[in-house]
Amino acid sequence: MNKVRVRFAPSPTGPLHMGGVRTALYNYLFARRHGGTMILRIEDTDSQRFVPGAEAYILESLRWCGIEIDEGVGVKGGGGPHAPYRQSERKDIYWNFAQQLVGMGAAYYAFDTAEELDRMRTEAEARGETFCYNAAVRKMLPDSEIERLKAEGRPWVIRFKMPENETVEMDDRIRGHVTVNTDTLDDKVLFKSSDGLPTYHLANIVDDHLMEITHVIRGEEWLPSLPLHFLLYRAFGWQRPEFAHLPLLLKPTGGGKLSKRDGDKMGFPVFPLSWEGGLGYREEGYFPEAFVNMLALLGWNPGTEQELFSMEELIAAFSLERVSKSGARFQPDKAKWFQAQYMHAKTECELASILQPILKEHGIVTTDELAGRAAFLMRERAVFPADLWDLTAYFFVAPTGYEEKQFTKYWKGDNPRILSELREVLAGIEDYSLTNLEATVHAWIESKGYGMGQVMNTLRLALVGAGKGPGMYDVVEFLGKDETLRRIDNLFHIL
Ligand code: GLU
Repeated sequence: MNKVRVRFAPSPTGPLHMGGVRTALYNYLFARRHGGTMILRIEDTDSQRFVPGAEAYILESLRWCGIEIDEGVGVKGGGGPHAPYRQSERKDIYWNFAQQLVGMGAAYYAFDTAEELDRMRTEAEARGETFCYNAAVRKMLPDSEIERLKAEGRPWVIRFKMPENETVEMDDRIRGHVTVNTDTLDDKVLFKSSDGLPTYHLANIVDDHLMEITHVIRGEEWLPSLPLHFLLYRAFGWQRPEFAHLPLLLKPTGGGKLSKRDGDKMGFPVFPLSWEGGLGYREEGYFPEAFVNMLALLGWNPGTEQELFSMEELIAAFSLERVSKSGARFQPDKAKWFQAQYMHAKTECELASILQPILKEHGIVTTDELAGRAAFLMRERAVFPADLWDLTAYFFVAPTGYEEKQFTKYWKGDNPRILSELREVLAGIEDYSLTNLEATVHAWIESKGYGMGQVMNTLRLALVGAGKGPGMYDVVEFLGKDETLRRIDNLFHIL
């Protein structure tokens, strides 16, 4: 096999949908798996649909996900040996290829106006047919006539001359063998005089050829274009790349393609990063590793029970053979599950850097060690970084009030007296390590015959102010002697 060269070729028509990120990811995994090259090409020949900022968004999304580009837009030093990689900067290249196709009779000039095309469409629909611009409609004009119309300044297009009644036989790495009869296909426009630019089909084929792409891995929505692409390669006499069309991402309810509307309705993002005020996965608090892991398994499976994969593990396990043919249903809860797994697996040090900025926002200054310890104690109850504030705030701020329910339940009977006894026990302990605290307090409770639950919950009321938090010994160890005693005194004081 030639050295693998794959490309991600988005059109900058808006923010990258998570389906687009998955396409980029699979290309990247395939490239890395085979020691190949990952190329980023920007397909911006459709000036009508060009959206400013979309390219920067694409680059930032890929960077956030850890999808590295070896060659192309955004790569330092001009991008690589086939620069430029932005199609709008390659305008001059395509014209010669369009001319070549016309010269060999594989494409032709057409001068239909928009009104004529509309009329043909309406007439076909009136006959109950779907309009197809093909041999039945096309007019092959003599060169002299073409020259005359061009000289008159009439707008023209170059269309592909679709062969009649031919079965195109195609192989796709995911879909298998696909056949299509050309009579169902249009004479697609390849080049337009209106802007002097090729359409997607021509630019895409020419660039894939010139950039020596070996595998085209893209979304299923491009499968209908595959016969035309096959025929274009044949017309040029070029060797085709291999094709792999990825299954659609489906709505959580199953039927139909996942859309932004589904996300808005059900409250999950469909974009990696925020766009026009709508939050992306990043702003929702997802870790890029969790997002990437979740996406990788939407349409691909490793053939084992393993669900958690680092990028390195994905690279080692990925193969096109294990990409499914059928659509992959997106499940928002599963996305959260992945995020939770990554949160729970964070080290103290990683958690410190996640919690520190949140603490700062709340005006709390503490050491990385304490931030890490607090977050580590509570990580299993957190899904997103923002959850950590509620879960850890009481480690850093003494209660200023007491949760009603907890208070009425425990601040009664013998409990206040027992708490003041416990205060003395705690005041007498020198070694505030978890094991020593546990052993000493435990022994004291037993010797007194007090109820463990009552004592611990009253202590929790004093230290946390509410019925939450980890085990009380963890809290006491974390707070240390001074702060523990101060908080107990506070409870007596406030009352
Ligand atoms: N520009 C196309 C897109 O936006 C690329 C399709 C392809 O990969 O061939 O998806």
